[in-house]
Amino acid sequence: MEFKDKVVLITGSSRGLGRSIAISFAKEGANVIINYKSSKKEAEALYEIISTYGQEYMCIQADVSKEDEVKSMIEQIIEKYGRIDILINNAGIAIDNEFEDREVSDWKDTLDTNLIGVFLTSKYAGKYMKNQEYGKIVNISSTNGIDTTYTYSIDYDASKAALINLTRNLAIEFSPNVNVNAVAPGWIDTEMNNDLPKEYLKEEKSKILVKRFAEPEEIANVVLFLASEKSRYIVGETIRVDGGLKIE
Ligand code: NAP
Repeated sequence: MEFKDKVVLITGSSRGLGRSIAISFAKEGANVIINYKSSKKEAEALYEIISTYGQEYMCIQADVSKEDEVKSMIEQIIEKYGRIDILINNAGIAIDNEFEDREVSDWKDTLDTNLIGVFLTSKYAGKYMKNQEYGKIVNISSTNGIDTTYTYSIDYDASKAALINLTRNLAIEFSPNVNVNAVAPGWIDTEMNNDLPKEYLKEEKSKILVKRFAEPEEIANVVLFLASEKSRYIVGETIRVDGGLKIE
């Protein structure tokens, strides 16, 4: 049990990749804290599933873009466990629309969740990690932040590029005892992509060398690696996991 008794917060874990990461940590003996913004039912269903693994779990509603909610979430965790060992910054949103329809409010919502949310959770959890002289932070970026940019989600792409930069600065800020890295997945088979046109998704699949989107578990495996001692000499890096995408 690689993560036995570790206290692990996964933001945005009611569904999709976050849910898969939560289950993977629970299987490895961690005390998992599920976080969600509005999907209460899904979060509670996940809580029921991981409860069978026998550790102490929590399920906390908090919007990662709201400072008071993040502060309160971290305080609730510290009150229960007295520490926080691992933070997975997974919560993210993507609003897809035409360039002409893109509003400043879309930009703000996207950056508030995908970028400022990571700053807030890292700030409040990182303080305790620094004091306890141990911690791991893994941020979920995207290949859209590197080179698979898409004009329908320009603010999402910018947020994920900025997150790679933020990962490096957080790694400096929290060194030497708190280790910060990121994962940049390509396409993942989750609800986030449900509303995209079927033809577009088919075309995107054809560009991937393994000819399919990632199962959430395939990304979770890399997240757990970066949260483990096996990766302790990897610092401030972003690991790309995309099934061998061909960039044209
Ligand atoms: P998803 O299925 O849409 O799930 C997103 C999760 O984030 C949900 O649990 C949602 O909870 C939560 N969330 C959203 N806004 C939040 C907020 N302000 N505060 C707290 N939680 C919030 O997305 P996914 O595909 O699993 O994506 C997970 C991460 O992987 C994201 O950072 C995404 O950008 C990244 N990623 C995804 C793909 C892909 O192809 N799917 C590719 C590369 C990277 P509620 O429903 O309660 O709001």
